[in-house]
Amino acid sequence: MSQNFNENLPAILGGIPEFPEGPPGWPFQDDNIQKWLNKAYYDRSWGKYHGKYCNELINLISEYQESKHVMLCSSGTAAVELALRGLKVGKEDEVIIAAYDFDGNYRNIKHLEATTVLVDVSPNNWNMDLDPLNEVICSRTKAILVSHLHGGFVPMKVLMKIAQEKGIPVIEDACQMPGAQIQGKKAGSWGDIGVISFGGSKTLTAGRGGALFTNNEEITQRTRLTQNRGNEAYPLSELQAAVVIPQLENLDKNHSRRAKNVQFIKKELETFSGLIPFKNGDNNSNHEKHSQPGYYKLGFQYNPSQFSGIERSVFCQAMQSEGIAMHEGFRSFHCIHSSRRFKKHGELTQATLADQNCIILHHPILLKSETEIRKIVQAVSKIQQHSKQIYDAYKKSL
Ligand SMILES: *Cc1c(COP(=O)(O)O)cnc(C)c1O
Repeated sequence: MSQNFNENLPAILGGIPEFPEGPPGWPFQDDNIQKWLNKAYYDRSWGKYHGKYCNELINLISEYQESKHVMLCSSGTAAVELALRGLKVGKEDEVIIAAYDFDGNYRNIKHLEATTVLVDVSPNNWNMDLDPLNEVICSRTKAILVSHLHGGFVPMKVLMKIAQEKGIPVIEDACQMPGAQIQGKKAGSWGDIGVISFGGSKTLTAGRGGALFTNNEEITQRTRLTQNRGNEAYPLSELQAAVVIPQLENLDKNHSRRAKNVQFIKKELETFSGLIPFKNGDNNSNHEKHSQPGYYKLGFQYNPSQFSGIERSVFCQAMQSEGIAMHEGFRSFHCIHSSRRFKKHGELTQATLADQNCIILHHPILLKSETEIRKIVQAVSKIQQHSKQIYDAYKKSL
């Protein structure tokens, strides 16, 4: 009997972790990538600024994203900066972003000395809410910078209609989901400019790197000018390009695999009302149609009252003790920056909730088998069953 009890005891209370070896590392080993690394070694591209691998990657991205112009750069953050510069964003301008977003996006706008205008996020998935846009767009608005986050997405068809009516260009940050399908188009291809990242933890990775793409000639010329200052200010190397090429081949396949596992998690976690996976659209919207988000992170809305009031940080610690890479999400900008530093629309109620209650699951596990995925669900279940004990243990330690 005590055996049974122990098996069900969460690791944070001394039980056996679901994954004693911890979360899977990233990137996975891949013979195909080794082959491309070898190629770049033997043809001496590894020591080159620019050449055939960069050119091939540009062509592949151009085809994949259906974009005429592709620029490779040193990171997704650099690509967003180039995009803002390509739109001539400067001192007198306003840029609209969601109050819950990647910190680099906020800092890029600051860096260009423009005013950041924060809008709230949707209650379904804590991605940008489009309702405030018509009210916040004004004569100073120079751009809308929008990200698809944590397996949620922003309905771009709707956003582009609003933006085009007002004549405001959109930068679409698809760093978290290259290859995702949004309302019938690839993520990043709806915006006037699209951006992806090849950062070390991302689903497509070269350790560092990124790309920007657009069909607009004028934007292309301006970003090229910026990029070619001096000895290329924001480059991607041949060696980096060489490892991204084989990953593009597998992108769609890996994508479907992650989506299948996420489907399973979503179905299973419906019964744990305290950990709700991000939803896209409500039940009667058709946003999910022709859409398949990507999963760099899978986002959840955490409700502590369903776990005897244990704090989000303790819940994450309990999951990490099980060997699962679950962490707190981003900080919302209005919660960490002085209100003199931005303009905001409304009370940003949902973004405040996101700041407090967002939890994200890191992607590598999503390429594993259903057996592994079941263990995640099992871990949540164990923690919920013992949440009172965890609460007491952590209260005592305070
Ligand atoms: C990772 C990320 C970026 C850019 O990341 P880099 O590490 O600079 O390549 C941009 N936006 C979002 C939403 C991201 O998650």
